[in-house]
Amino acid sequence: MRYYSTGHNSPQVSLEEAVLRSTAPDGGLYIPCTVPHLPQAFIRNMASLSLPEIGFAIANFAFQGDVEGSVLHDIVNSTLNFDIPIIDMGDGRNVMELFHGPTMAYKDIGVRFMAGLLSYFTHQHSDWNTINVLVPTSGDTGCAVANGFYNVPGVEVWILYPQDTVSFFQEAQFASLGKNVHAIEVNGTFDDCKRLVKQAFMDEDLNKRMLLTSATSINIARIIPQTFYYFYAYAQLLKQGKASDGVVVSVPCANLGNLASGLLAREMGLPVKRFISVENQNNTFYNYLRTGTFSPQPSVQSIAPALDAGNPTNFARIAERLGNASDMGKVIHGYTYDDMQIVETMREVYERDRYLLDPHSAIAYRALCEDLQTGETGIALATAHPSKFSPAVELAIGHEIELPAQLMRFMNGTRRVTPMSSGFTAFKNLLMGG
Ligand SMILES: *Cc1c(COP(=O)(O)O)cnc(C)c1O
Repeated sequence: MRYYSTGHNSPQVSLEEAVLRSTAPDGGLYIPCTVPHLPQAFIRNMASLSLPEIGFAIANFAFQGDVEGSVLHDIVNSTLNFDIPIIDMGDGRNVMELFHGPTMAYKDIGVRFMAGLLSYFTHQHSDWNTINVLVPTSGDTGCAVANGFYNVPGVEVWILYPQDTVSFFQEAQFASLGKNVHAIEVNGTFDDCKRLVKQAFMDEDLNKRMLLTSATSINIARIIPQTFYYFYAYAQLLKQGKASDGVVVSVPCANLGNLASGLLAREMGLPVKRFISVENQNNTFYNYLRTGTFSPQPSVQSIAPALDAGNPTNFARIAERLGNASDMGKVIHGYTYDDMQIVETMREVYERDRYLLDPHSAIAYRALCEDLQTGETGIALATAHPSKFSPAVELAIGHEIELPAQLMRFMNGTRRVTPMSSGFTAFKNLLMGG
């Protein structure tokens, strides 16, 4: 399979090159040149397959031989080795809990798959030095990436985070690992962290000496594995006899990577009637769907911080496949909520259904409730465990919640942090081992 750039001004590349480059030289994002269409018989028979079996079949279709079958099998099995429960909330509504991985956030799935691919690529090239994954984070993304790449041979991970705004709990999730995971505390803002990484990717000298890549959802290696759970969701609902005329899927959106994966799954033949894109007050995509003008804004802080993105990077992929706002509107319904509504939703659902949602998942569920028509089957993607955002959740429900053992273990480790100024020279020296 070859990949082309949404900028239409770069050569087509192999899977390996697309993953290593992350973005195309023209600044665009890579997408598959031809999207494989799954046979209807396969889709009908998915109900009898397990989650790893579905993942393996989809990955095989998507990569078309670019990765050896036995390797792909291992990668899928180590990526999807936890449950993805689907909760029936009544009236055709369902919630899919994507957060039972090691850091209890949905990014575990895409990141761990990408780690498996990178490790396969380095294994094939004995002449390669290490691959360096550069990760600017305001707190949440860093955890999934650090843990996904932890101990992966041939890969070093550099997490850059702002000194003052990352919580003690978030820092613990990436700074207590050690080994190939480097926690760099930048004396500056999240924007400084992003700028440093961008500068590193553009520095010719540095790129001649080192292999650098990114593990955000600009990387196609994140997008492809995130299609697996859309297929799995459909398969489960099919098994229950609820998916005969397609499903509606509600997605909490920031950089639109998760939504781009869902759209790819649909293009591969998954019967999705429509998607619901849900944003907090960083609602650039919502405004685009309404007005047809894409106007990125500086991000504002909210109580659903993983959605605080004012310039959604995967917009380019979505526009490339679906066309303009009016065409997008036929497939995607947009919603946006402010902090008050987020809190209100967590409280209402908890009181009514005794079900606890984190701030991100709460608005995905709320939009599903508002958009779903009688007789339809819908599914809201729950992207994080509520305890990851306990201050907001506790505010909503009025009492404390416990940290699961899986997250507790991070709190007890020893932190290893490298403080750094926000100047590029300092970062470059650090990368080169100075
Ligand atoms: C990253 C993240 C999202 C948003 O995903 P995008 O692919 O950036 O749209 C939603 N919820 C949580 C908890 C996240 O960590």
